[in-house]
Amino acid sequence: MSIQQNLNHIKETLPEHVTLVAVSKTKPISDLLEAYEAGQRIFGENKIQEMAEKHEQLPKDIQWHMIGHVQRNKVKYMAGFVSLIHGVENEKLLNEINKQAEKHNRVIDCLLQIKIAAEDSKFGMTAVEASQILHSQNFPELKHINIVGVMGMATFTENESQIKSEFNQLKTIFKSLKIEHPKPEQFNTISMGMSGDYPLAIACGSTMVRIGSSIFGVRNY
Ligand SMILES: *Cc1c(COP(=O)(O)O)cnc(C)c1O
Repeated sequence: MSIQQNLNHIKETLPEHVTLVAVSKTKPISDLLEAYEAGQRIFGENKIQEMAEKHEQLPKDIQWHMIGHVQRNKVKYMAGFVSLIHGVENEKLLNEINKQAEKHNRVIDCLLQIKIAAEDSKFGMTAVEASQILHSQNFPELKHINIVGVMGMATFTENESQIKSEFNQLKTIFKSLKIEHPKPEQFNTISMGMSGDYPLAIACGSTMVRIGSSIFGVRNY
């Protein structure tokens, strides 16, 4: 099936309140353009340099989401255009995003990445660390970031009940952080679900799915 067919098929199955991030990492500009022409405007990348290059070359009404691990010294390369950073996993990174956003006179939306997977390799913070960020003295000073929700990745496993329990865990953490957030009305996003598990993620409360291979085909690294 073509990229356009894949996209249309997925969009038909998504409830209206769920946002689709088309994960285009490693894929050529021509693939992104095909998705763009099919109406897709939100793209997710996991490397800042690759995202910046694609941003240069593609239409400017695309919203770019950074879904990967963020190195602090590279925030400056995306601060001028990135629309949502999914992988905020500590306060130092948040401070750097705030600093770089200020230089561009912008407010950048961010998600706190929560470690829900049992594997060691997945990045993210605990619920307690996330809560500490919202309560830190410094937090009200960060005028150039908005924390709009949470992001998580389930364990890479065939065990559906484990995945389900990890997604449910993220939903529970989201609910308690929303109560603690100084502006709960802007804290509405739960980014969870990928090609292999997004229907389950949606059933567990996801509001944003990050789908790559089911749209663009398998990646050759
Ligand atoms: C690559 C990636 C995805 C998309 O994965 P698919 O299985 O291709 O849908 C989603 N989220 C993150 C954080 C990723 O790195």
